[in-house]
Amino acid sequence: MKRDLAQLTEREFDLVIIGGGIYGAAATWEAALQGLRVALIEREDFGSKTSSNSLKIIHGGLRYIQHLDYKRMRESIRERRVLMKLAPHLVHPLPCIMPTYGHLGKGPEVMRVALLLNDLVGWDRNRIDDPQKILPNGKVLSREECERLLPGVRRENLTGGALWYDCQVYNSERLLLAYLHSASAMGAVLANYVSAEGLIFRGNRVVGVQARDRLADVPLQIRARLAINAAGPWVNRVFQWLRPHQQRPPVQWSWAMNLVTKKIVSGFAVGATGRHKVWQDGRLVDKSRKVFFIAPWRDYSLVGTIHEPYYGDPSDFRIREREIARFIEEINGAYPGAELKREDVKFFYGGLLPMDRPDPKSGEVVLTKHYKLIDHSQADSVDGMISVVGVKYTTARDVGRKTVRLAARKLDRPFHEIDVESQRLFGGEIPRFQEFWQQIHDDLRNQLPDAAIDQLAYNYGSEYGRILALGKENPEWLRPFPGTGVLPAEVVHAVREEMAQRLIDVVWRRTELGSAGLPSDDVLNQVAELMARELDWSPEKVAEEIEHTKAHYRPAD
Ligand SMILES: Cc1cc2nc3c(=O)[nH]c(=O)nc-3n(C[C@H](O)[C@H](O)[C@H](O)COP(=O)(O)OP(=O)(O)OC[C@H]3O[C@@H](n4cnc5c(N)ncnc54)[C@H](O)[C@@H]3O)c2cc1C
Repeated sequence: MKRDLAQLTEREFDLVIIGGGIYGAAATWEAALQGLRVALIEREDFGSKTSSNSLKIIHGGLRYIQHLDYKRMRESIRERRVLMKLAPHLVHPLPCIMPTYGHLGKGPEVMRVALLLNDLVGWDRNRIDDPQKILPNGKVLSREECERLLPGVRRENLTGGALWYDCQVYNSERLLLAYLHSASAMGAVLANYVSAEGLIFRGNRVVGVQARDRLADVPLQIRARLAINAAGPWVNRVFQWLRPHQQRPPVQWSWAMNLVTKKIVSGFAVGATGRHKVWQDGRLVDKSRKVFFIAPWRDYSLVGTIHEPYYGDPSDFRIREREIARFIEEINGAYPGAELKREDVKFFYGGLLPMDRPDPKSGEVVLTKHYKLIDHSQADSVDGMISVVGVKYTTARDVGRKTVRLAARKLDRPFHEIDVESQRLFGGEIPRFQEFWQQIHDDLRNQLPDAAIDQLAYNYGSEYGRILALGKENPEWLRPFPGTGVLPAEVVHAVREEMAQRLIDVVWRRTELGSAGLPSDDVLNQVAELMARELDWSPEKVAEEIEHTKAHYRPAD
């Protein structure tokens, strides 16, 4: 995967995709599978916006039962299984418990029926030849079992718990990269730090994108028969190029936040019900019941998610310190055993999600439930352009397929019904994960510490040999950075093979170094120095990159 901008301009593509979040990445892979000539441009780094802010849950859709939305459940259940097959190193089962209170509404009796329905609708969820990926039936737990498994649970009026199984992505940034690696291997042309700045028209038809290489500040013209707008929270800006006179943005947004905290739960994720305070213009307007999700993740917990309307420019969005403080208070109310303090919060993620509207009474965000796929020949009488607005990380691959199917139709090209479950992404050639994990530990035990072997297995899967191979060039690169399992070879690989351009790209999105908080100064300096040697950075640039990286871990005031 090389950043070669000459390739972007020297030929005409079938498709140019604007936006390298999970929706753009998955669509690029689907297009490459179809044999289309596809280019993807990302204004910043791949996956650096909403897609690196996810709670990392691959939802099977239990919550859709309350709306009897079986179609969405089936889609989600299928995608959960597909993702476990495509990337068995990255997507793993996650047992989840929803404590029940009282006997009405979401009491144990109702949950028993919901779990049964969930298993029935997901009858084929275990069509997978890997015992580690089996998702057992759900069951209702007694109050005692629930207290034993979740010692921190709120006990007042507790009547038991509902146990079911979903999945979690070990590293959502690397799943996105896996799509890109695989697409690139099939001929897709990819570039980060290239922004779309306008469209090229011939009459009423889009025939390409005016772009800019943001590193060299050079304009580029990318010619393509069709453009796909997958710009996430910036889709409205691309719409404006088609509809310069439109006043009201067609897609509305809400902001959402997760925290990475000290370990609160072990072995099980918990859906803890508490009160969420809704604020408008500094005034408390409502206190609604809300389920917070606390998931075990590596040596930490991931806690999410609160949503509030957002009307500003997406580029200005920042999490503020007072929002973190409020969130901590609400989590402690919902799950008293958390006993969270500010210093227990290692990192915070925030991003924007499409909303239908704020609820007129409570002010609560009503999130958009379904993805949108817009053919602008119908919506705006402009041909050669499709927009896609996603609502979940979980279903991005399926929506990518639908986007490419529409694109193929518009390009008058055949769309092949490919059996996606027989495909594997970069690193995913692993028939059985547990056996693979054991094998890699057996093979590398005398060479690397356990933490390093583990993270090679989970992050790179069957491609871990690429990292080890760099040890031949410099054996020091196989000695982990102090206090981590991350190898300097991963940094070199990220720069040479994964287009990492900035320190934050490596620290947050290529390696595990900073995905759960700011690494130590010593580690940051070592990584920056290594990148400086690879990318020929000056001492000033090194200092600038370190400061730029640290700023990502500071909330706004
Ligand atoms: C806090 C939070 C928690 C979540 N948790 C979950 C979860 O647990 N499970 C789940 O399934 N989903 C979850 N989601 C939803 C999921 O993360 C999003 O639906 C998904 O990441 C959206 O991806 P995207 O590609 O549409 O957007 P993005 O990731 O934002 O990608 C759009 C990209 O387009 C680029 N771009 C914009 N303009 C231009 C331009 N002019 N030129 C080039 N590039 C451009 C941007 O830089 C950006 O990288 C969560 C979301 C949030 C915010």
